[in-house]
Amino acid sequence: VISAIIVHGGLAKVPPEKSDGYRQGCLAAVRAGWELLSKGGSVLDAAEAAVRLLEDDSLFNAGRGASLNADGEVELDAAIMDGATLRAGAVAAIRGVRHPISVARKLMESGKTVMLVADGARRFALEQNVELCESDWLITDEQKQEWANASRAVQGSSKDTVGCVALDSDGRIAAATSTGGLLRKLPGRVGDSPLIGCGLYADSLGGTSLTGDGESIIRMALASRILALLHTGVHPDSAADAAIQQFGEKVPGEAGCIVLDSRGRFGFAHRSQNMAYAYLNSEMPAALAFTRKEAPLA
Ligand code: ASP
Repeated sequence: VISAIIVHGGLAKVPPEKSDGYRQGCLAAVRAGWELLSKGGSVLDAAEAAVRLLEDDSLFNAGRGASLNADGEVELDAAIMDGATLRAGAVAAIRGVRHPISVARKLMESGKTVMLVADGARRFALEQNVELCESDWLITDEQKQEWANASRAVQGSSKDTVGCVALDSDGRIAAATSTGGLLRKLPGRVGDSPLIGCGLYADSLGGTSLTGDGESIIRMALASRILALLHTGVHPDSAADAAIQQFGEKVPGEAGCIVLDSRGRFGFAHRSQNMAYAYLNSEMPAALAFTRKEAPLA
């Protein structure tokens, strides 16, 4: 029986001097998830732990270091899904929490509501004792600079959203995605990342987490498309390639995905210059990390 984990750190263009930071960030997240998986921890704990690490790493557009919206503020989107039960939790446009993925997890565990937005999401976080923070704590100087340099008129391009798909030795799969969304997005704008079937999905056969231009990913229902392809019996890497190909034919912009199936097989594809990702399964001697897809797996 195989266990496995794959994470991504989004589609930002990676300059050579930052390439190591992206790879190390993704590897650290893989290790955080793997430590739990190898101790028999739940696949949800592993996916949440991996994403929490990336939320704290200000290099990535999630948690601290997230992109700023048109008003220069941080509004975060995140979701988690349990493939075995199809339970899911999601938060959107939430402010002043350090780990939106953990708010999403608590919401999932609470059993009924799947998604909360804005003030309602923050109120739930407070009630559940999820770590709150000052809104300003989430804002880094680098993001302030990017905001100041970016055009006022348009929402920016896709960046370093983070995600994870994990598989435990019981064959359970979980998927998680977390983001600050697109630079200079309208306040209140929600991207694909917290939407089940768009920015993530997991069932008993496989799971996926996506990144890219949210409006286009939503219109393609890209995560559910990837799962539909997986259910035709193809290798996850073929499902990833085919979905990203369809995306490119039908809608504008960039997209990238990571995919993992219940046999521990990986897939990834991106329509963009770079995608940061790392993965490990119990048959590999060590985790691997990349900042672009170099060769097909299938
Ligand atoms: N998909 C995210 C969004 O549109 C952004 C990203 O992946 O970089 O909010």
